[in-house]
Amino acid sequence: MQKTSNGEDVSLVGLVWVDLCGIARVRGVPVKYLGSKADYGLSFPSCGQAMTMFGDIIDNPWGGVGDVRQIPVMSTLVRPGDEGFGLVLSEAMGSDGKPWDLCARTLLRGIVNKYENELGVKVHATFEQEFKLLGDKEPALSMTVEAWQQIAPLDAVIVRRLEAAGIQIEAFEPEFVPSQYELSVAPKDAVRAADEAVIIRETVRDAARRAGYHATFAPKTSIDKGGSGLHIHISFTDQNGRPILYDANGKSRLSSLGQGFVSGVLRHGRALLPFVAPGVASYYRLGPKKWSTGYVAYGTSNREAMLRICSLPTDDQERKAKSFNIEFRAADGLCNPYLALAAILIAGMQGIQNKLPLPPAMDADPSKLSQPELDALQLVPVPSSLEEALKDLDADDALKAALPRILVDMVMALRRREISQFKDLDPDAICTQYAKIY
Ligand code: GLU
Ligand code: MG
Repeated sequence: MQKTSNGEDVSLVGLVWVDLCGIARVRGVPVKYLGSKADYGLSFPSCGQAMTMFGDIIDNPWGGVGDVRQIPVMSTLVRPGDEGFGLVLSEAMGSDGKPWDLCARTLLRGIVNKYENELGVKVHATFEQEFKLLGDKEPALSMTVEAWQQIAPLDAVIVRRLEAAGIQIEAFEPEFVPSQYELSVAPKDAVRAADEAVIIRETVRDAARRAGYHATFAPKTSIDKGGSGLHIHISFTDQNGRPILYDANGKSRLSSLGQGFVSGVLRHGRALLPFVAPGVASYYRLGPKKWSTGYVAYGTSNREAMLRICSLPTDDQERKAKSFNIEFRAADGLCNPYLALAAILIAGMQGIQNKLPLPPAMDADPSKLSQPELDALQLVPVPSSLEEALKDLDADDALKAALPRILVDMVMALRRREISQFKDLDPDAICTQYAKIY
């Protein structure tokens, strides 16, 4: 009997990968055979990466020919429920035995290694996930003790299962919108952080289902209700674990590395959207005055900005530096966490390597600024639709060149498929479809 890293028994293990639509797919193997699958995993048709959120397959280079191997990363084995079903995250290997260009986990590992090898920087991250728990009960007033107690004992089950999976929960609470909850966890190295984001999604979904709720991480459940975001917090240390994002004398207290990173993410900000906010409904959530992301800008503690600089309000420089991190606010629960973080890191690295100048900080709510103040900031809005975001990606040669061509093509084709599938539906019906699947 194989055990998880926390010593729990499992009997049947699902090899999981997250596809380009952000959906976790699975193949299962009895645990007694898992060891024999450690090197070459299980095969899966290559055209599986052309699968849409509707379950069909769009035009792709493989058709019925070609397989990839899904190789389990044994250290990620967890048991998300109380029975003996385990999940292990996996990476894809092409039929030539090489890493596959369409595997998002491999892409993230590659860019994280580049930070380490080319810049001497370790990347840390955490995914703060908002989701709604939809059930029969009238949801209590938001952010109240009642809203928190209403879901009992589901909250305790989620905490127990996630802690057993080695995830350190920092906060789990009702959020601003009725039925909405948020789960924050401790930062980890970037790949582990993305693994945990996937484990959290599937654990929450499973526990909710058993308790009679439908958990949805979709950005909107209807056009008039507040949205759910996926906020990605990023920080850097040197090889000895010392924080290197903070500089008490730097602009916005960012080190020169941090300034380059912020500049790079903002330079490519609009083109990043199809990777981080990949659905038609993603753009109902984004925009000014929604506390999601109104502008491709950065600011200290500013929820209207794509990048929010966060830290503890302390004069203790060591604690300040340790807590200092950059929150990317534009992502949502439709994204593939590996792909989203990889794209952000690629954009940031281009800013660091090209020493891009830092744009002016947006430290106030733009709705409270005068026209001259707004002009000085030269604010760039977020794209207002997926079509618009795809045009920005198509025009961003530098970002595209840093990604495998086939991956960009497939992401764009899948996004276009969603646009055409939803073209005759009204926004509420579109939100409903996303909320059902995600
Ligand atoms: N729900 C908001 C979003 O869609 C975020 C609110 C917050 O700042 O936590 O991103
Ligand atoms: Mg929140």
